[in-house]
Amino acid sequence: MSQTSETGLPMRTLDGAEVTLPDAALAAFRGAFRGPLIRPGDASYDATRAIWNAMIDRRPGLIAQCTGTTDVVRAVQFARQHRLLLSVRGGGHNIAGLAVPEGGLLIDLSLLKGVWVDPEARTARAQPGCTLGDVDRETQLHGLAAVLGFVSTTGIAGLTVGGGFGYLTRRHGYTCDTLVSLEVVTADAKVVRASATENPELFWALRGGGGNFGIVTSFEYKLYPVGPEIMAGAIAWHGKDALSVLRLYHEISTSSPRELTLVAALRIAPPAPWLPKEVHGEPIAAIFVCHTGRPEDGEKLVAPIKAFGSPVADIIVRRPYAQMQSLLDATQPKGRRYYWKSEYFAALPPKLLDALVEHHGRIRSPHSALLLFQMGGALNELPADHSPVGNRDAAYVVNVAGSWEKAQDDAANMAWARDCWQGIRPFSTGGVYVNFLTEEEGADRIEAAYGKEILGRLAALKRKYDPDDLFRHTKQVVGPR
Ligand SMILES: Cc1cc2nc3c(=O)[nH]c(=O)nc-3n(C[C@H](O)[C@H](O)[C@H](O)COP(=O)(O)OP(=O)(O)OC[C@H]3O[C@@H](n4cnc5c(N)ncnc54)[C@H](O)[C@@H]3O)c2cc1C
Repeated sequence: MSQTSETGLPMRTLDGAEVTLPDAALAAFRGAFRGPLIRPGDASYDATRAIWNAMIDRRPGLIAQCTGTTDVVRAVQFARQHRLLLSVRGGGHNIAGLAVPEGGLLIDLSLLKGVWVDPEARTARAQPGCTLGDVDRETQLHGLAAVLGFVSTTGIAGLTVGGGFGYLTRRHGYTCDTLVSLEVVTADAKVVRASATENPELFWALRGGGGNFGIVTSFEYKLYPVGPEIMAGAIAWHGKDALSVLRLYHEISTSSPRELTLVAALRIAPPAPWLPKEVHGEPIAAIFVCHTGRPEDGEKLVAPIKAFGSPVADIIVRRPYAQMQSLLDATQPKGRRYYWKSEYFAALPPKLLDALVEHHGRIRSPHSALLLFQMGGALNELPADHSPVGNRDAAYVVNVAGSWEKAQDDAANMAWARDCWQGIRPFSTGGVYVNFLTEEEGADRIEAAYGKEILGRLAALKRKYDPDDLFRHTKQVVGPR
């Protein structure tokens, strides 16, 4: 319940106008909605509006914390009735801050954390407030896993509707490729199912088209046998060896089976317990290694990596899959300032590796990193328009991941990320991952994410499913982007 005395509710509308809703309107919404409604001035307001990226500091007019699908329906009805700007928050990890509107209605799904696993059918249904870790925890009880991302605190919702990739992607495709069905609250506040046979166009659009088409209240994923024990971990070398480490990465990543996925990281060594004190604060080149097949096969495959050069640390061991899924978490805490630039690559030509090493040498913050994710495999086998997430020519993603603590360091760190991006762009496929786009990246980058043809199909479906553009606090597929 709001702690502030009510003298109308100042809100922003879809057109950007400021209105004050009468107390009666809020009272009616309160009567229809079960979860907490949080307003500016309430004790929990600042903590609830805060998201992963501290660069985003927006003040919604009202936060509606949903406790079930009915609350989501009621929140959409309230927004429609008063033509309010709205945003949807799953895990709050979107770097562009799509989860939080300035002055509008924040539909917060973070309380919805149910996960139901069907071990026989090898499927799981999960609610949209789940993090990746919430789902892994339940599926691993049965030795199963969904295709999710690399950091366990990320929300499943935004990740899945934007595509999703992680250590299992080379075996099974993007996260959205493994969806069985969705429950969706549409822009006209109806609850529908979407699958290959029910509302198939909506199902297609939601597998990569982002939050433009509705609010997903249940995700049903295919599951795959994984672990629970796998061969995985991380290994690091001195920064001076970065080029030879990237060459090793290239060699192994082009010859390894799909069970093995590697992530390279060029950065300054954090004071992590697995790294010796002498290297803390020094440049390092690390490879995160995850083999999701039989551990004995993994041991053989990782042997050349473990034997390469003179590593400063090596924690590639048999370990639980769920532990590997959170190994990178400490490097990505909520509340730091973040700015990314990223591109897809079909190959790793030597000049690209040179550019990465050069910009590693110019890194400005001990928290920033150049991250090189291995993709390809199953992803490349599906038709280009299998889902709108597209980019099925990708074998790698590079994310220039700027991260620092103080606003006064914004300009220097953003300049580093942009310079590096300019240096690596010539080697890109021209494609970019929609879930890695920052706040400033608009029409041209959204087109780069989808390609002209897919974007055209998405725009047509947007006009069909959301003609009033209610879900516009997104990377927009139609209209002013
Ligand atoms: C630390 C970190 C690690 C990451 N690692 C990976 C990775 O390994 N692989 C990967 O693919 N991506 C990764 N990402 C990117 C990630 O996919 C996006 O940030 C994604 O938006 C996160 O989802 P969320 O639910 O936390 O986002 P939120 O910020 O809550 O939401 C983002 C947008 O998604 C849409 N949305 C949210 N919930 C729903 C819903 N229920 N229905 C419809 N639309 C909805 C809305 O448009 C919303 O504005 C990472 C991001 C971070 C910050």
